[in-house]
Amino acid sequence: MKVKAIYPGSFDPITYGHIDIIQRLQPIYGELTVLVAHSPKKTYLFSAEERAHLIRKCLKDLPGINIDMFDGLTVEYAKKVQASVIIRGLRAVSDFEYESAMANMNKKLGPEVETMIVFTRPEYGHISSRMVKEVAFYRGDLTGIVPPAVAEALKSKYEHKSS
Ligand code: ADP
Repeated sequence: MKVKAIYPGSFDPITYGHIDIIQRLQPIYGELTVLVAHSPKKTYLFSAEERAHLIRKCLKDLPGINIDMFDGLTVEYAKKVQASVIIRGLRAVSDFEYESAMANMNKKLGPEVETMIVFTRPEYGHISSRMVKEVAFYRGDLTGIVPPAVAEALKSKYEHKSS
């Protein structure tokens, strides 16, 4: 039986760390939806459409991947599409507290949905979207950290912001 899984996040922007998780998990679940959060409570560098567009560009050769946007509770989305798994990545101990609190809350809100935590590959453990934006702002080299399309999008975003 095919199990539907969701990989939710801000993806502001997508990095090789996220892509690695998607590449490793999609074959296990067969169908994986990358769910782009757009919460009115959060400030993003890229709009939800831009983030989804970048994800689509970076994952264009990967089969079995859907990309969707959602403003709401991930568990509610999971129920709506009848997905039974939420995937989250864990980089370091610093991620643990937040991820465990969220997994416990999701379990309370949707007992039928499981959270699966995946450990980051060591070489991607230092990559975060926040850090990527910091490096891009100061025009640092993002080779091996984000795909070229993302590096380009960051460059033009900050060029526009500073002009
Ligand atoms: P959020 O705002 O939900 O934390 P992110 O886009 O930062 O969204 O992250 C989405 C998911 O991807 C989270 O589970 C996060 O821990 C994971 N993640 C982020 N960066 C990496 C990375 N470098 N390697 C593996 N997982 C990552």
